[in-house]
Amino acid sequence: MSDRPTVWFHTFGCKANQYDTERIRQTLERRGAATVDDPELANVAVINTCTVTNQADANARHLVRRLRRRHPRLKIVTAGCSTSFREEMYRAMPELDGLVAGHDPEAVVEELDRLGLETTSGALDGPLERNRRGTRGWLKVQDGCDRKCSFCATRLARGASVSRPVDEVVEEAKRLAVHHPELVITGIHIGHYGHDLRPPATLARLCARILDRVDVRLRLSSIEATEIDDDLLSLLAESGGQLAPHLHVPLQSGSDAVLRLMRRWHTRADYRARVLQIADRLGSFGLGADVIVGFPGEGSREFDETRALVEELPYTYLHVFPYSARDDTVAASLPDRVPGDVAADRSRELREIAVSKAAAYEAHRDGTWADIVVEGHDDRLVGVTGDYLRVELGGAPTAGARFAAVLRRRDGRLVARAPAVEKVG
Ligand code: SF4
Repeated sequence: MSDRPTVWFHTFGCKANQYDTERIRQTLERRGAATVDDPELANVAVINTCTVTNQADANARHLVRRLRRRHPRLKIVTAGCSTSFREEMYRAMPELDGLVAGHDPEAVVEELDRLGLETTSGALDGPLERNRRGTRGWLKVQDGCDRKCSFCATRLARGASVSRPVDEVVEEAKRLAVHHPELVITGIHIGHYGHDLRPPATLARLCARILDRVDVRLRLSSIEATEIDDDLLSLLAESGGQLAPHLHVPLQSGSDAVLRLMRRWHTRADYRARVLQIADRLGSFGLGADVIVGFPGEGSREFDETRALVEELPYTYLHVFPYSARDDTVAASLPDRVPGDVAADRSRELREIAVSKAAAYEAHRDGTWADIVVEGHDDRLVGVTGDYLRVELGGAPTAGARFAAVLRRRDGRLVARAPAVEKVG
């Protein structure tokens, strides 16, 4: 006799992976499965893996082994990027009961059926209705990447860029907006959205169409500076905050020599010029970037170029990563490795610059208006502004509410007063 699945989910990695887990969860629930918050209550664990670093692979394997030790009768299934990229390794794990190389919800259904955890027939995968957790919803518009950055395994795991049709994304946005006051446009390389569609589409036209049909705040997740076209910039400047004034534009390095080794397609000058044009048009806006320090071949002169660019551009926050070699990528075999202590010092230096830039930006926002969405639950509510500041909330905050308020700086933190509103979402 077969059991009905009670599923504990765990997701590693990025927003795109979190979105994929939600699609899997929704499909399983439509077929009679129940989601539980404790593996003790589950008969199957579905782990959506990430392969961004060797450590990400290792974390997924550790979780599988820990679950097996603590829950001997639990069925364990992995899916996602690490499972795709390292399929043979997962197949060889005795602790694992099943795997899906990718993120296809129907493939997960089949795997659970194979394990005797029978789902009901009927509703198949379809537009996502809501994110189970989180005030802000993830709206995935494409998967995969056509670039060939030498340090990146994600494109190897996910393949070429494939966009979802415009109408499908708009339909999903309508459904998600019923529950989420903000939708985050996610994907692996959203700057290439629509290039593969016939007729071709662009990210700017997609965002404009969503904002035309759906009352929601949109936010772009990470996007390459050189792929922000003039239409997208105009929408950012003219949508009245409906397309949040916030960009996260990976820098990776400010040195042309290192950018070439990274196989990035742009130069320092291309990146710098586009960011300065964007800043000129948008004025005050949230600007973040990823920077890799200690990449092979990064000497002190190359690092100085990165630091100078970080100092010059109007970042409001930075994500700084010491380079960590990823097996089976081109970068893993590059010579001229940078010692760990040097990379750590460089990371610290950039993070200190980022902290002082963030403080300066927050000081400049003191006394100005912000468009705030209340995120979190219970006594852990926080405001997220359009320009991606986190603010403490006074007044009567309600999760999912969106309101405008003046920001004040108190004891080094931004605070805003929330009006009382009916329950939202
Ligand atoms: S642009 Fe580069 S880093 Fe980003 S997903 Fe594509 S290959 Fe990876």
